[in-house]
Amino acid sequence: MTSSTPYSTIRHWHRRTRTLARKPLRPRTPQGRLQATHGGLRAACVAGKRMGSFRLLLGRVLAREGDLYAAITVCPCRVHADLFGDNDHAMYPLAPHATGETCLLVEIAIGDAYGAGFEFCARERIVQHNTLAAYASHALGSEAGRYTDDTQMSIAVAEVLLSEPAPGSDAFAEAFVRCYRRDPRNGYAKGLQGLLDECADGAALRQRIRPASRRNGAAMRSVPLGLISDKTQLAQTARAQAVVTHDTPEGVTSAHVVALMAHSLLYDGVELADLSAQVKHHTGFQLRNDWAAEVECDAIQTLHAVNTALQRNRRLSDLLRDCVDFGGDVDSVAAIAVGIASLSPEYQSDLPARLVDGLEDGMYGRTFLARFDVELGGRFPALAGCFAPSLVPEGNSIWR
Ligand SMILES: [Mg+2]
Repeated sequence: MTSSTPYSTIRHWHRRTRTLARKPLRPRTPQGRLQATHGGLRAACVAGKRMGSFRLLLGRVLAREGDLYAAITVCPCRVHADLFGDNDHAMYPLAPHATGETCLLVEIAIGDAYGAGFEFCARERIVQHNTLAAYASHALGSEAGRYTDDTQMSIAVAEVLLSEPAPGSDAFAEAFVRCYRRDPRNGYAKGLQGLLDECADGAALRQRIRPASRRNGAAMRSVPLGLISDKTQLAQTARAQAVVTHDTPEGVTSAHVVALMAHSLLYDGVELADLSAQVKHHTGFQLRNDWAAEVECDAIQTLHAVNTALQRNRRLSDLLRDCVDFGGDVDSVAAIAVGIASLSPEYQSDLPARLVDGLEDGMYGRTFLARFDVELGGRFPALAGCFAPSLVPEGNSIWR
């Protein structure tokens, strides 16, 4: 049987994941096919489908004898689904990165680069130009479409995650210096940028820095920490990276909260509406969903603004505009929010092609980021929509 399912239906499956067990699937997809045989569905993976811009859903559908566990968790995008019938009760994840695309750093960079054009600008500029029509140049003189410290430090964090299973602060300090020195760029706080210019390595940075900041620098680079599957390890690592520059309760908490938000969407299938409760449960921090003021470079304000925007939008394009509408440090708000949203199947990945294509594409630009995302998906299968069978509890839904 060959049939097809619109993306909205796949999203619908996701929302109903918990109730899908023991219900047969009868999907209809334009590019997909369903072969339900023997009363059991063999793995079904949802392949990413490039449709005009970077967008991808990598999901997985696990089927066991007569039961179907649909788990389409990762990157929202338009998809096609291939569902294969079989009765061998195994899960067959799609070959990772079947399309060569995944998400996370690209989305962070787009949010960052777009927001950078409006960072602490006059309200009139936001009113007139926050249309997603194009990137705007940064007040510091950076060209339009160029990302800033938020993305560069997120890259650094991601590089550490790839290289060490349980990294400490020294590894993060080293990566911050390395990433900056190989590709100096604006957007950093003046003092930190001065140190990065002067310090040859992480040890020198740690020796000279006074990490007493309560600003949002530790939070802005923490979305990739959500890739860590273990919550205890996640909390430890969030702290380890935060204290390099933000050894304050606000700095550490903000990094933990951002990482946990990403983690909860990626690993726990938490719905956006339940995200605040999940964060409160694990960190004790109460996220607000009613932030309305301009966002200073403040860790806590940034968290509230990110959550407020995340809760009231369901399309990345709307989210990006909403983040910028706050005014203030909107590149950080947008980088974090769009990065987190890219992990939620409740979000439609509809960033305009002109922003995807307009993102810088030099040595560490769009192509580098896209390849890095693929690499991350290889190291962290949840990002690629794949689960090793051993990770799936026997007889249980893969949702926890
Ligand atoms: Mg920035």
